Amino acid sequence: MKLTVVIPSYNEGNDIKFAYEKLVDVLKRCSIKQIYDYEIIFIDDGSNDNTLSVIKQFQVFDKNVKYISFTRNFGKEAGILAGLTYSSGDAVILMDADLQHPPQLIPKMVDYYLRGYDQVIAKRNRIGDSKSKTFLSKLYYKIVNHFIDVKLEDGIGDFRLLSQRSVKALLSMGEYNRFSKGMFCWIGFNQKVIKYENQRRVGGTSKWNFRKLVQYGIDGILSFNNKPLRSTIYIGFLMMILGIIYLIYSLTRILIIGIDVPGYFTIISAILIMAGVQILAIGIIGEYIGRIYYEVKMRPHFLIQESNIEKVREEYFMEDKYGKQDNAIF
Ligand code: UDP
Ligand code: MG
Repeated sequence: MKLTVVIPSYNEGNDIKFAYEKLVDVLKRCSIKQIYDYEIIFIDDGSNDNTLSVIKQFQVFDKNVKYISFTRNFGKEAGILAGLTYSSGDAVILMDADLQHPPQLIPKMVDYYLRGYDQVIAKRNRIGDSKSKTFLSKLYYKIVNHFIDVKLEDGIGDFRLLSQRSVKALLSMGEYNRFSKGMFCWIGFNQKVIKYENQRRVGGTSKWNFRKLVQYGIDGILSFNNKPLRSTIYIGFLMMILGIIYLIYSLTRILIIGIDVPGYFTIISAILIMAGVQILAIGIIGEYIGRIYYEVKMRPHFLIQESNIEKVREEYFMEDKYGKQDNAIF
């Protein structure tokens, strides 16, 4: 069998070497034992440091190293997609470049794959994370799982092995907004979860900041189905019922006691609450329209600047008469 390891990397020039060395060490050892070939596909996600040149150095000595370099930073999801698209293995492993996904787990993953599992998922614990972060993410998963129809689990990320047919299933989902955490669950297949200890980055810093996390959080809730839209219907309905009850109450009061003028508080609170609900509802609808807008544009998920993968070169570049392949087809 052949194993493909996909590593999306963005500005990892300083630590990608450690990941590569450790990975090759593990792969070489177990490829002899379990008899498989392997390839490593590095995706350089438009890094502005020396990531690409470091990767290119690997491929000079190691024919198993493939790389795809994007024209700019398209995000990790695009990197994963490119890796899956151009993988040639019977099974694909997705892994981070910062050694937070320990390569030592790979033999175990392959083992389960050989036993017939289509997705072997590595789940980390939260040791070493701050209390507030742990609390917030637990809360987040509670909220998200309420809204979307697949079940997301805390600690489960992109580090996993995918069989060829689950890769095919993922590639058949052509959406522009790719929330892969949800998509992995959505495709199903028989899955096995293995656990590992939370790891610190070898070096560098995480590409996440608070703003990005909040955006990702909202993406998680909105990009999967239309339940938030549905909930605005419920909220609207509830507000209407409350309004009608209040109306009946006021009318009866007027009929019995007569009109009394004071009522500033009720009027102003009704206006404020209704306005709030309406703007929220419009916001949610707007978000969906925005997503539809991106989907209908049908833009490619990524653009490739250079690569040593034959299939990519055929698809993306036209060789000119001097043998230079710098003309992207798009
Ligand atoms: N990454 C990427 N494109 C981006 C941001 C991140 O390919 O725009 C890669 C990054 O190089 C790393 C992985 O995605 O290999 C995870 O990123 P990071 O370590 O910053 O995230 P964290 O582990 O903190 O969730
Ligand atoms: Mg990381």
